[in-house]
Order: sequence, then C-alpha cells, then structure tokens
Amino acid sequence: MTQQSEKVFQSDIVIAGAGITGVSLARELSRYDVSVIVLERAEDVAEGATKANSGIVHAGYDAKPGTAKAKYNVLGAAMFPALCAELSVPYRKCGALVVGFDDNDRQTLEDLLRRGVTNGVKNLRLLNREEALAAEPSLNPEIVCALDVPESAIVSPYELAYAMADDAALNGVRFHFDQEINSVSAAAGSGWQLATARGDVFRCRVFINCAGASGAALHNMISDQPLQMTHRRGQYYLLDRAPYQPFTRTVFQCPSAMGKGVLVSQSVHGNLLLGPNAEDIDDPLDTATTAEGLASVLARAQRTWPALSTRSNITNFSGVRAHLSTDDFQIGPVSGAPGAFEAIGIESPGLSSAPAVAVDLAASVASFLSLRKKGNLVPPRRPKKPFHDMTDEERAEAVQNDPAYGNIVCRCEVVTEAEIREAIRRPVGARSIDGVKRRTRAGMGRCQGGFCSPRVAQIIAEETGVCLQSVTKCGGDSLLLVDTVESFLKGGAGND
Ligand SMILES: Cc1cc2nc3c(=O)[nH]c(=O)nc-3n(C[C@H](O)[C@H](O)[C@H](O)COP(=O)(O)OP(=O)(O)OC[C@H]3O[C@@H](n4cnc5c(N)ncnc54)[C@H](O)[C@@H]3O)c2cc1C
Repeated sequence: MTQQSEKVFQSDIVIAGAGITGVSLARELSRYDVSVIVLERAEDVAEGATKANSGIVHAGYDAKPGTAKAKYNVLGAAMFPALCAELSVPYRKCGALVVGFDDNDRQTLEDLLRRGVTNGVKNLRLLNREEALAAEPSLNPEIVCALDVPESAIVSPYELAYAMADDAALNGVRFHFDQEINSVSAAAGSGWQLATARGDVFRCRVFINCAGASGAALHNMISDQPLQMTHRRGQYYLLDRAPYQPFTRTVFQCPSAMGKGVLVSQSVHGNLLLGPNAEDIDDPLDTATTAEGLASVLARAQRTWPALSTRSNITNFSGVRAHLSTDDFQIGPVSGAPGAFEAIGIESPGLSSAPAVAVDLAASVASFLSLRKKGNLVPPRRPKKPFHDMTDEERAEAVQNDPAYGNIVCRCEVVTEAEIREAIRRPVGARSIDGVKRRTRAGMGRCQGGFCSPRVAQIIAEETGVCLQSVTKCGGDSLLLVDTVESFLKGGAGND
C-alpha cells in the first residue's frame, strides 16, 4: 500500500469542529490579527448537531439559573436579531407556548416562569386554558395552561453556520475539511501538535476543542480532569411547506431531564417540524431514525395537535446531543493543558448560545495570546434574494442579467442554476449535493431531490473540476454513480 506523504501546517490557532460553536468562534477570532485554521472531520460546515436540531432560538426559561447554559442562552438569544440581519440569515421571532396537561405540568410551568424571570427573560406569563386556546386554536382542548414565551424565535441553524463560515473565511480563516483529528499532544517547547486521520500534522500555539459529540474524546487526550459524555439522539418528522399552518408560535410540551420536550414548530421556510425524542446511544455518529423513535415523536406531537396527519411528511432525520455528566456547557481553558481551550457539552440551547460563547471564548484566547483587533474587516457577503421569493419583475430582471436564472433545476423549491453555481462559489462553498441543498434548498422539497440531484451533481462537477462519478451526496463514500456506461461496457469497475 502506498503511504500518502504527510503535510505539515502551521497556524497560531487551530479550532476543532466546524459546527455552530466552531464557526462562531472562528468568525469572532477573525476580528483579531492572528492566523486561524478550522479542522473539520466532515466534508462541510454544520455536519454535526448543527444541521439536525429544532432551529429554535430559545428565550432562556429552561436552563438552571447560575449555569453557563442560562448565562449564554440569554446573552446569545439577544444577539440573534442583529447577527442574522448582518449576515442575511432567515430569523423570525414567532414566540412559543409551553403547554401543560395536568397539575404536575402546571407546577413545572410555574417553575419555568420563575427560572426565566431569574435568568432575565422578558415578557413571560402563564396563560389559562381559555387564553391559550384563544392564542392557538389548533391546540388540544385538553390542555389546562400554557407558558407564553414571546421572546422565542426560529432560525435556520445551518444557514447561519454557512454565513458565519463565509464571513470568517473572507477575513482570513482557513477551513480544512475531511480532516479528522485523531491525536492531540503538547508540542516540543510550547503549543500543540495535532495529527489527522489523513496523516497530516497541524501545529499551533492554541488549540480549541469545539468537536461536539467528540468533544470529550479530544478533551480526554489532553486534560488532567477526564470527562464523561452521553450521546442523546433526537428524531424528527419534517412536513412539506404548506400555506396553512396549525400554529403561529412554536408549541412545546413540558421539558424533562432528557430534553426540552417534543415540539411542533414552523421552520423559517414554512415547513413543519415535529420532534425530537431523546434516547441515549453508544455511537455519537449514529444518526439513524427508528420506527419506535418516530412513533413516540408522533404520539407526543399528536397530543399537542390532535388533527396532525403525516400525509405531508417529506423526510425524517435525527441529531445527537452532546451531554456532559455535569449537565452544563464546559467553556474556557482546558484543565491541565496550558494553551488549550474548549467549548464542549454544547447541547441545547447551544445554537442559541453560540454567538455569546464565541465572544467570551475569543476574548480569553486573545488575552492568552495578547492579540490585537484588526483595523479593517471585509464586510459580510450580500446574498441575492432567492428566486423563489422574487416578484415576476425581479425574476425577469434576474434572468436578463444572468440567463442561468432562467433554468429551474429544483422544481419543488424553485431553485435556479444560477443560485446553485453561486452556492458552490461562496467563500466556503458547497462540494456535495447536500451542501447545495442546505445552501439553496434545491432538493429540500416534496421530491427530496429525486428530480434535481443528477443535474446538481453535474453542476458541482463543472464548477469544482472533479469528474461526475466522484461527486457525493454528503462526502465520504456517499457516491451517486459507480461508473460510466462507456467504461462499464468496456469491462470497467462496474463490471466486477
Ligand atoms: C435533537 C436536537 C435538538 C436541538 N435543538 C436545539 C434548539 O432548538 N435550539 C438550540 O439552541 N439548540 C438546540 N440543540 C443544540 C444545538 O444543536 C447544539 O448545541 C449545537 O449545534 C452544537 O454545535 P457544536 O458546534 O458545538 O457541535 P456540532 O454541530 O456537533 O459540531 C461539531 C463538529 O466537530 C466535528 N468533529 C468532531 N470530531 C472531530 C475530530 N476529531 N476532528 C475534526 N472535527 C471533528 C464534527 O464533524 C462536527 O461538525 C439541539 C440539539 C439536538 C441534537
């Protein structure tokens, strides 16, 4: 077997993980005069929990007062409106209701109200049955009360992560994908040396662990305080976009020790999301869905919304929560490892907290390295309005300026060739069919890419200069094509 020759890379800082925590931090550090590399195991940004969650910007009523979760949730949520406006990411403050079905639930909701007030959440109030049903008439009439949370919002988690990664890259951060860190050790003298599964070596002065479900594994390679992490999977139904929505708010049931409770929520694009359940699993990469898991989601969602039908279900998915035995985020310097920092155990409300975690962690790293802020920053990329949302006049003008707007590639979501090419050309562009799907919504609709995937693959091949057979659905060995007809007929690989 031939051994690929090892490459050695040097930077001031290496961040492990391009989830929302890692990219928020990378973007924050790109404001300083320092070299930053992000190493990501997967082939794209947001391939861990960041692509598979409820997309709620929680207001902050659930976390125990005094915890890092409570602090960063409330601080982070307050940053979202300006952040999403700056990065042109869809965000909507739709509010939430947490519904109760009996006296125990009423007690829980009263506790949540007190917690929320202590955490600094505004405008919380308890509604009686009639008030709750007047607010959301499709609710189960068996509810007895509800907590009204007007500050709760929805966001597209992966679109936010892509926008943050683009902004970080525009300001000098380098992203290396398909690079799984499999060892971290102190370098001779000072700093850190990381070895990747591909055989490359990365040397840095500061190492920051934002590796999500693998956070404890990397932590335990370097810390004198080992950690235990539980991997807790949550499964979902995703229903097609529909003109009629049962609720204007996100509707939760009461949270438990395992999670925030099953919700029924709109997405920012008008799909309906049902889930998640909570089940502990052994393999942090096991994002399968199961008949039992989905059945339990459905039963609980039907309790919130008795008229629920899954006729318009278009896909199911799951995400894995990274739960530490401390039941809190662990953020800051790594114990016993000078020059190493971490943001791990970032389960819910990790999406809502990420921008605030990044500000604090970047400040700690900047102080450790005595960094200065840069004078000039490259402004964020200004994406064009999606063709789907344009008026007829805007569409006509777009096609006139670029005929590729005249080719509709995804019929379900009305996504054009021009938009797909642009998604691949972004600073941290799509390289797979799923990467295009999450950036443009091509393949997100009712047919789930049945019609458009071959055309998307062709455009990826043209734009990135790879052959069509090596285009993947989502990196690794998720190839779509095994061979060409020509080579098959000549007795090529497909003839084996
Ligand atoms: C079911 C579910 C629902 C949720 N709902 C919400 C919600 O509504 N609101 C909210 O605020 N939060 C929610 N969360 C929590 C939120 O999704 C997470 O807190 C957040 O996405 C964590 O981001 P992260 O960047 O820390 O981890 P991840 O997104 O998992 O990113 C970690 C990255 O590290 C990479 N990586 C791992 N190991 C290595 C290695 N050895 N080398 C290189 N790279 C590596 C992974 O590939 C991954 O891309 C939910 C979570 C789940 C699972």
